[in-house]
Amino acid sequence: MGYIGNHVSSSGGFFAMGAHELDLGGDTFAFFTRNPRGGASRAADPEDAAKLMRLLTEHSFGPLVAHAPYTLNACSTNERVAAFAREAMTGDLLKMQLLPGQFYNFHPGSHLGQGPEKAIPQIAAVVNEALAAVPEGRTTVLLETMAGKGSEVGRTFEELRMIMDRIDRPERIGVTLDTCHVWDAGYDIAGNLDGVLKEFDEVIGLEHLKAIHLNDSKNPCGSRKDRHEKLGKGCIGEEALRRVVTHPALASLPFILETPNEDEGYRREIRMVRSWMEE
Ligand code: FE
Ligand code: FE
Ligand code: ZN
Repeated sequence: MGYIGNHVSSSGGFFAMGAHELDLGGDTFAFFTRNPRGGASRAADPEDAAKLMRLLTEHSFGPLVAHAPYTLNACSTNERVAAFAREAMTGDLLKMQLLPGQFYNFHPGSHLGQGPEKAIPQIAAVVNEALAAVPEGRTTVLLETMAGKGSEVGRTFEELRMIMDRIDRPERIGVTLDTCHVWDAGYDIAGNLDGVLKEFDEVIGLEHLKAIHLNDSKNPCGSRKDRHEKLGKGCIGEEALRRVVTHPALASLPFILETPNEDEGYRREIRMVRSWMEE
């Protein structure tokens, strides 16, 4: 059986996130490793992290899917932005050592006109540097599939594969499939889920798919917009999202909601997804 949860605020620290998710009915969650739009990172409290780890075990949580800040652009043409990416990813992986065995998801980046050929080796170099800085790391770094808005890298499975091919520690890299993003990128998961997963398997390998961001989309397939919608209220639709959740190839993964909701909306969606899982 898979795991379901949502993106929660990290403002109260590690244990507070777990307690909050438990209250919403989830058994996994996502959180920003630092302010999503800013730079500075609060020092992490090892005792607070240990408390969260105990809660996760006690309540049989699945793996968590931490999210890098949006400002992390590993393939920026601006040296200061690129330097922040290296620093932030290394710092985040060091922080994640307090929560061993979880996932760390990041957006491959925006190439800002220099083209994916230049961006892809740059992205891989940032990941390699971070992985080398934490040699005993127990965090798997996940590349998120992107909608292709602006100059985003990672709209196609081929681009993600090219990044993965350049990672020195292949056992420590994987992929998060965001349902809104792949749909907006042009992969028809509503009309042809099996075909999309077959393509994913051929290009990337389904064994590298470690997490799902479960979102509906405000826009049609191929729109490259990246506007998330509540489950069943968008262009992907409830039936198609139910088939994603219950697909045998995906059934054991953590599913993270990034839908435009407050607590009550997340509680409802978690209940709905769990009922699909239990069918
Ligand atoms: Fe994301
Ligand atoms: Fe996402
Ligand atoms: Zn998105």
